[in-house]
Amino acid sequence: MDYTKQIQDIAGRLFSEGKIDIFIGYRNTGFDENQVPVLIHQYKDVDQLLFTDKSVFNLANYLKYEHTRNKRVGLIVKGCDSRALNLMLTESQVKRENLYIIGIACEGVVNETGEKAQNCVECMMPDAVVYDELLGSATGKREYQVNADIRELDEKTLTDRVEYFEEIFENCIRCNACRHSCPLCYCAKCCIDQETATLFHGANTTSSAFHALMTWSLHLAGRCVDCRNCEKACPIHLPLHLLHKLNEKVIYENFQENLAGMTEGDRGAFYKYSLSDPDDFIL
Ligand code: SF4
Ligand code: SF4
Ligand code: SF4
Ligand code: SF4
Repeated sequence: MDYTKQIQDIAGRLFSEGKIDIFIGYRNTGFDENQVPVLIHQYKDVDQLLFTDKSVFNLANYLKYEHTRNKRVGLIVKGCDSRALNLMLTESQVKRENLYIIGIACEGVVNETGEKAQNCVECMMPDAVVYDELLGSATGKREYQVNADIRELDEKTLTDRVEYFEEIFENCIRCNACRHSCPLCYCAKCCIDQETATLFHGANTTSSAFHALMTWSLHLAGRCVDCRNCEKACPIHLPLHLLHKLNEKVIYENFQENLAGMTEGDRGAFYKYSLSDPDDFIL
């Protein structure tokens, strides 16, 4: 999967036609073979852009910050990234008319050891679902599958699951990199932010980290698109996908046929109410 030439051409065309102010893409780190997101502001810099199976980050995240807000932006989205973008559109965080979207019919990205990333192995929708131009050949929606680590977690008793999460989140340093890296965490005042939170004190205690991450995962329940931007940002590599994928499985099996962000306008499970929802757990 290498669309470097096509992306440089498209970005160059958009700048020369005066259609965008910023292009959000990927470039080499400059010191190894990995890539980082880059914001390009002018035509002369488009040769920095590239796109390969190392283009791992979800660029929709950069649409939530002040420097791109209300600007005309070109960006690249893979299937999972485009689902986050769809939710941002649905939740009125970005304006469609300000965007030029290069969609990718994605063949999967690789992790640091060069293997296909786990979310790509399980990916239900590799093709971009919102775009102006699509690169690659769309392969369509795949069957929903749940990875072994989620099945194992689901089989634990509630007490064992709490103990398990308390243990693995013990090392969380409350840096909030996960939240800042999630395109769907855009609240101006976040209730788990260490400086502004009224719900969670700033002390780095296990219980504070545990509660913050649990709250965070519930705010993403029915919205998370499994791009794993959060997990890539975590400095101590905590397996954050376990929280989100377990929520996704429960919601997918009980409340909705489609995964989050598959179509613009679909607001996700927690925004919907139906008289036929299972409610036998309500006292
Ligand atoms: S999860 Fe799907 S769309 Fe996202 S990078 Fe992997 S294969 Fe591509
Ligand atoms: S919680 Fe993580 S995996 Fe889910 S959408 Fe946000 S960044 Fe992506
Ligand atoms: S964790 Fe919740 S409150 Fe904080 S930014 Fe994300 S969605 Fe908003
Ligand atoms: S990025 Fe990792 S260490 Fe930082 S708050 Fe999130 S889970 Fe904790």
